[in-house]
Parts: sequence; C-alpha cells; structure tokens
Amino acid sequence: MKEKFLGIDVCTDTYDQLAAKLLEDINHNRKSFIVAINPEKIMKAQEDMELRDLLNKATYQIPDGIGVILASMMKGGKIRSRVTGIDMMMRLCKEAALHGKKVFLYGAKPGVADEAKKKLEERFPGIQIVGTMHGYEKNENVIVNAINASNPDILFVALGSPAQEYWIVKHMDSLAPKVYQGVGGSFDVVSG
Ligand code: UDP
Repeated sequence: MKEKFLGIDVCTDTYDQLAAKLLEDINHNRKSFIVAINPEKIMKAQEDMELRDLLNKATYQIPDGIGVILASMMKGGKIRSRVTGIDMMMRLCKEAALHGKKVFLYGAKPGVADEAKKKLEERFPGIQIVGTMHGYEKNENVIVNAINASNPDILFVALGSPAQEYWIVKHMDSLAPKVYQGVGGSFDVVSG
C-alpha cells in the first residue's frame, strides 16, 4: 500500500513486509528499486518535476523521516514508524546472508566500500559480498561490467541523493541485480 504526500508516493510497509517483498522480487526475477523519502525530498519535488517522476518511479518509497510519519498520522494514514535507508540496507544484508543472495557495493570514496564490505562480513556471517566499486569511476561501462561480472542479486548505490536514484533508473535495465537501493552516505557510516 502507498500513501501520497504532496504528490509523492510513500509505502506503508514495515521492515518485515518489505524484506518479504524484496526476497520475492529476487526469487521471481523482478527488478525493484528502493528510495528513501523525507520531507526535504518531498518539498524539493514540488518544484522539480523530474525529481517527482523519479521518486514515484521507485518500487518502494520508504518513510525515512519523522515528518512523513507525522503527516500520515495527521491525515489518518497508516504509516507509524520510520523505515530508514541504513536500517533497510542492514535488513537486506541480514536476509542476503540468511538466503544466500549476493550483494554488490557501489559508491563512496576509494577504499570505503571495501572497508564497509569487511564490516558487513563481520556483522552478517556468511554474507556473499561479491564485489565493490568506488563512486568516482567515470567510465559507465567499467562500472556496469564490474557489477554484471559478479552477478549480484542486490546492489547498494552510495552516490548521494538524488544522483544515485538517477543512476539506478538509467542503468537498471542493463544490470544483473534485482534489488536496487540508493543508500547515500551509508558506506561511510558502516565503514567508520
Ligand atoms: N559520492 C560518490 N561519488 C560522487 C559523489 C559522492 O561516491 O561522485 C559519495 C560520497 O563519497 C558519499 C556519498 O556519495 O559516500 C554521499 O553521501 P551523503 O551523506 O552526502 O549523501 P546523502 O545521504 O545526503 O544523500
């Protein structure tokens, strides 16, 4: 289910519901794309129609901001708790480790994704992080080929928002992963 806030869709699903849907997407070979929504993005999308279309194009818009919860409560909606980008990423890593799904980390400064990979491997024993790529490689073919060569199921893109979401929409048709999430500065947080 989704609720609309000033023209922007937001999912009412909890972490558990989203985790189940995302695993199903992978198992059924469906591509899906997660974007974190906060009031700042909703306001920016009021003037920027391209951004509005981009946000609404996502499969799952997660309510990453208390303002979205308050707005939902005020209009009698269902959203009662935040689903943050970083916690959704952690939940997906947990599911990936449990269900043998492969993960790729793309973005952040050179070395950061590798460090994040180490930390995630410690935290989620058995997780298969099949590749990393820093976010300052300019050759799109190099990036796409590196990702596809390791055939991941889940791709986390950490280029900052909304650049990462534009990148996902532009490339997801030619990429192997099924689940895509723009995670902003999360690799910096995880690696630090
Ligand atoms: N970044 C990148 N390539 C770029 C620009 C930024 O990989 O060309 C990375 C940057 O190193 C950082 C992340 O994108 O890890 C952006 O983090 P920020 O917290 O600014 O993003 P937000 O969460 O605010 O969208």
